[in-house]
Amino acid sequence: MAKSDVDVVVVGAGFAGMYLLHELRENGFTSRVLESGKDVGGTWYWNRYPGARCDIATTDYQYTWDPELHEQWTWSEKHAAQPEILEYAQFVAKKHDLYSGIDFEVKVESAEWDEVAKRWHVRTSTGETITCRHYVMATGCLSVPKDPDIAGTDRYRGPVYVTGRWPHEGVDFTGQRVAVIGTGSSAIQSIPHIAEQAKELVIFQRTPNFSVPTLNGPQPADRVARLKADRATYEDEARLSYSGVPIPPSTVSALATPRDEANALLEQSWQRGELLSVGATFMDAGTSRDANEVVAEFVRSKVRSVVKDPETAELLSPRGYPYGTKRPCMDTNYYQTFNLPHVRLVDLNTKPIRSITETGIDFGDESKEFDSIVYATGFDAMTGAIVAVDITGKDGLTLKQKWENGPLTYLGLTSVGFPNLYMITGPGSPSVLSNMMVSIEQHVEWIRDTLIDMRAKGLDTIEPTAMAEEGWRQHCADCADITLFQDTNSWYMGANVPGKPRVLFPYIGGVGRYRRICDEVRERDYLGFELAGSGKSSTNDGLVREIQPDVEMLLDAMAMLNLPPIESMSPPDARMFMEMSSAVRPPGPEVGEIIDGMLPGADGPIEYRLYRPPTPGPHPVVVYYHGGGWVIGSHTSDDPLCRELCVKSNVVIVSVNYRHAPEHRFPAAADDSFAALQWVAANAASLGGDPTRLAVAGWSAGGNVAAVAAQLARDNGGPSLKGQLLLTPAVDGSKEYSSMRENAEGYVLTKSLMDWFWDHYADPSDRSHPKASPLLAESLANLPPAVIVTGQYDPLRDEGDAYAAALKAAGVPVQHIQARGHTHTSVGMVDVLPSGRPVRDQMAAALRGFFV
Ligand SMILES: Cc1cc2nc3c(=O)[nH]c(=O)nc-3n(C[C@H](O)[C@H](O)[C@H](O)COP(=O)(O)OP(=O)(O)OC[C@H]3O[C@@H](n4cnc5c(N)ncnc54)[C@H](O)[C@@H]3O)c2cc1C
Repeated sequence: MAKSDVDVVVVGAGFAGMYLLHELRENGFTSRVLESGKDVGGTWYWNRYPGARCDIATTDYQYTWDPELHEQWTWSEKHAAQPEILEYAQFVAKKHDLYSGIDFEVKVESAEWDEVAKRWHVRTSTGETITCRHYVMATGCLSVPKDPDIAGTDRYRGPVYVTGRWPHEGVDFTGQRVAVIGTGSSAIQSIPHIAEQAKELVIFQRTPNFSVPTLNGPQPADRVARLKADRATYEDEARLSYSGVPIPPSTVSALATPRDEANALLEQSWQRGELLSVGATFMDAGTSRDANEVVAEFVRSKVRSVVKDPETAELLSPRGYPYGTKRPCMDTNYYQTFNLPHVRLVDLNTKPIRSITETGIDFGDESKEFDSIVYATGFDAMTGAIVAVDITGKDGLTLKQKWENGPLTYLGLTSVGFPNLYMITGPGSPSVLSNMMVSIEQHVEWIRDTLIDMRAKGLDTIEPTAMAEEGWRQHCADCADITLFQDTNSWYMGANVPGKPRVLFPYIGGVGRYRRICDEVRERDYLGFELAGSGKSSTNDGLVREIQPDVEMLLDAMAMLNLPPIESMSPPDARMFMEMSSAVRPPGPEVGEIIDGMLPGADGPIEYRLYRPPTPGPHPVVVYYHGGGWVIGSHTSDDPLCRELCVKSNVVIVSVNYRHAPEHRFPAAADDSFAALQWVAANAASLGGDPTRLAVAGWSAGGNVAAVAAQLARDNGGPSLKGQLLLTPAVDGSKEYSSMRENAEGYVLTKSLMDWFWDHYADPSDRSHPKASPLLAESLANLPPAVIVTGQYDPLRDEGDAYAAALKAAGVPVQHIQARGHTHTSVGMVDVLPSGRPVRDQMAAALRGFFV
């Protein structure tokens, strides 16, 4: 007799529930696993449509937790078919005696949290109520087929098949007229098989999908050899990879590669016949629409090369959404099927289904009879199976209510108000954007380790904090914002289910990054969780990730390069090093005209570069001062940013050089800056600008001299300025602010580099002079309106914040942009870090605003 009070109830006996059961037993937890199907395998138990296969290769789509399995099980194919994967699940279940721990044909209907007993009461379809301390939804991301939202589905009298609930005995379509509705993954896999039997096959398509051929066969020899040689390293690489398959990240930009070379690289990827290879060919296909179009057009050319009828080929060619933003499919002879004389494609955009009838389908101006209808209409993905159970947490709140406007989780594993509830591959975790075997194992192990930790400490409950959950939502949104996913109507976005909220359900920051975050949460003593038990409770509130994901990625990549610190170099070497780094960055947008020239500085001529917008002038003129700690850089070193500000703000930018330290120490840079401003003001008209509309701008040390120039202009009778734009400026060298200590290392501009800059530029005794530290000026009144951008992870953040506050207090209009998750250098990295774009858009708008 199974126990009705256990440590853990697990819902679902797919790969997730099976592994969790094993781990719970191994670690001495009592459990019940409840499964509505009659066997293990989950996805591979239910999805028995012809042609069903995994599209992650079997070298990667298999358990890693039992090393013996690799000796005991041999996959017959690179992409195994459903029966073989189900057999594998059964083999594992038998080997580890899992069947004895699973109740089959039991559906969980509701679960209610008992705040007094600190336990869940789980009610099943058999009428039993099971009580447990911890409750795990291992219910699968693609386990609830979506009902077709088509008129008349209940009228049809012939047999109807749903790909996700295919009859176990199989279906014989020989001699039949068959309709398939839908062209997602299941349809693409099954259509070639149905076409082999059917007398006539009509496929109803709303949106074509990108599909890559599996080129199936035995497991690739090179991959098998790698696994045999060093399985542990291979598996670790998979766990820390972006998608759960150890493919090295691309360093090639599609935009920077000539089209014929790009196509040659894509062809190599295509020939690998793997789900992730085509999309991973270029580093920028996931973030740049133009780069993505290179991939999309390549796939469309493949469709055209196979499908003989040009009209059908065009209908099958996805347009209007980027490659990869709907799950790409893998097929065997899908496109070839449309060359068969008895196969027809109907475009639902021009011939919508009016109704299913008793005998067939009315669509467009046609009525057609069918012997069978196949619905391949997808799943209520990610949340469908979770909210199908009536889950009530604290204070009577149901999960369904809480998620009305989109799922809210911490780490995709837990949710506020639902203590001791865990979701395996839940929304907010990589789940369907990964090799799910890797993600399943990671979640199972995290839950297992958490239960072990809690037991060791005598803790009964764990629940995330509201702050942690909101922080995770923000982090997921930050990750999504830098991709192309959100413009596409996909099931990743909930768009296939009417009324479902439109958010990106899975976490798109990558499997490796996600694993590191989950590990960090545990290492930092369950950061973002409240744990309680035996009369004690502790809340470790906080945010596990605030840095912008692309900024973090760049920092990681830089850390791997192990570059020497700039301050270890001589100034000439540091300058050369920066010039070399700048040579490989994207150039920034085209401008109307660029003119290089010389102007008189405070002690001799200095260079300038003028950027003119393509629109008719005269334009407002902005004198721009480059960054580089008064030591490095030049009038051309911030070229991409100057170009972008020029075009986006429709202003002439005059980027001026100034004398650098240590050859020319304080106040040379400040004096040159003011001299340059005076010269530009006097010559604005001849430069094609409007002398009455003048402003200054600068980044970092350039922000410092821009602020100084604005003060000198005020104190010396002009020029009159409309504004000052200061991007992460250095404004006070006289003391150390908290942000300097907090962000002393790891964010490019380090404390030791900043010390090096100041040491080269100004003696300690000079640093309190307002020409070195404009924040310390006697008065800040009557300065031009300011836009000040500070970065969260910038050592200079606090002084920038202080300058914004002090200017405001002195009556100066200030727009203070606090760039969340950014560093000293990241905001200005045009076309490198997409998360900086909205901040720069704000800067550009503010600059325009100076002149209206
Ligand atoms: C056709 C298809 C192909 C796929 N191919 C791949 C692939 O190549 N690579 C990849 O990584 N992923 C693939 N997936 C995703 C696949 O779902 C996962 O890889 C994995 O099998 C999920 O395992 P799971 O245990 O988390 O969930 P599932 O396998 O979905 O198992 C969940 C189980 O929970 C049970 N259940 C749900 N609700 C209840 C309830 N209330 N009461 C009782 N039982 C319940 C279900 O019956 C089901 O058996 C594919 C999915 C589909 C549909």
